[in-house]
Amino acid sequence: MSLAFAPSPATLPGVVGDQLRVPLVTGEQVSYANLDHAASAPCLEPVRRAVDELLPWYASVHRGAGLASQVCTRVYERARDVLRRFVGARPDAAVVFTRNTTDALNLLARALPKGTTVVRFDSDHHAALLPWRGRQVRRVGVPASPEEAIAALDRTLAACPVGPRLVVLTGASNVTGEVWPIAELSAVARRHGARVVLDAAQLAPHRPVRATEWDVDWVALSGHKLYAPFGAGALVGVADWLRAAEPYLIGGGATRQVVDLGERLGVSWAAVPERHEAGSPNVIGVHALAAACDALCELGWDTITAHEQVLVETLRAGLGRIPGVRQLALWAPDHPRVGVVSFAVDGVDPGLLATALSAEHGVGVRDGAFCAHLTTRSLLTGAGVDGERALRASIGLGTNPEHVERFLGALARLVEHDP
Ligand code: PLP
Repeated sequence: MSLAFAPSPATLPGVVGDQLRVPLVTGEQVSYANLDHAASAPCLEPVRRAVDELLPWYASVHRGAGLASQVCTRVYERARDVLRRFVGARPDAAVVFTRNTTDALNLLARALPKGTTVVRFDSDHHAALLPWRGRQVRRVGVPASPEEAIAALDRTLAACPVGPRLVVLTGASNVTGEVWPIAELSAVARRHGARVVLDAAQLAPHRPVRATEWDVDWVALSGHKLYAPFGAGALVGVADWLRAAEPYLIGGGATRQVVDLGERLGVSWAAVPERHEAGSPNVIGVHALAAACDALCELGWDTITAHEQVLVETLRAGLGRIPGVRQLALWAPDHPRVGVVSFAVDGVDPGLLATALSAEHGVGVRDGAFCAHLTTRSLLTGAGVDGERALRASIGLGTNPEHVERFLGALARLVEHDP
């Protein structure tokens, strides 16, 4: 099997680990085919360089007069501007650095005003589905089409109690890769006086995020899905709810002043964003995240989508030719999607297949329910599969045509011989 079109890797910035060789059960060593970008994307070379440059200046931010501390503080604060621009937020948007998307959404959940009703889709990743526990929550089922998503959101909001409302939207599904009609859903939310938070964890590495244009109030994302190392993410958006909320974490950095009031201590809290960033922040991680945002913008979304689109189309077409493979999809096959494809194989355990792909072919995919149990179960049932787990292959800037070719060839052979 050979690919019709092979984009030139020379136009891409290169990822750390693209020379990685892994041992197979036969003892042979092969290059690693990482088809698990949706879980965590490999670090881009420009990000590695940015980290290397900052490491000699390693110092705690905001706290020191020394030059290293000043450099790190400047780098850390500059990253807020980069993030604002990267997600297309307003210049006055608050940027709170978090560990990842999960952390960012939990922060927002803690900052909701009393009486807020949260509306979210059952198809959301658990990070967007679950942090609202203890709040009034209205569920919208897994929609069968984008039109149904819009209509169901409208119906649900119309039946919501009076008071503040928050709609949780996902930019792109981590199970099927489908891109959600964010501007349209956000317009529905607005008509009902609701605010909107966008979980951009899967969208941001693959498509431009346009918070202002789409009229979303907050964007949450993770550095490790955006070609930066683990440990830094962000919540970017409107400051008022964050300003009125108790600090997310309590400790140094979040306080303006602590005074001795005899029986107790009097504490006044810092302004946003420091209010929600207690403790010594992850300056290297934040710098890496900002460097990844810069690198993606420099590369350009046209180049990124052109590279990914050909690979994902080849992936989907190839899977379509393997007998017994059932691809999971929320919506019509021609709906726009990022490079995430989940599937089941008739009568074959996904875990066994994933293990064999790794051990016998050096291909890394993921098996399971992808932290989206409701979606995965619903899609498997819809595809006529009796099970809870599927396989997922996901591509990005670290993927080349040979990886896809090797994966498809290996899967076809494994399915034929039933591992
Ligand atoms: N949202 C989506 C759509 C995701 O795919 C993920 C991770 O897979 C998350 C949120 C959570 O991201 P993190 O684990 O970086 O917090």
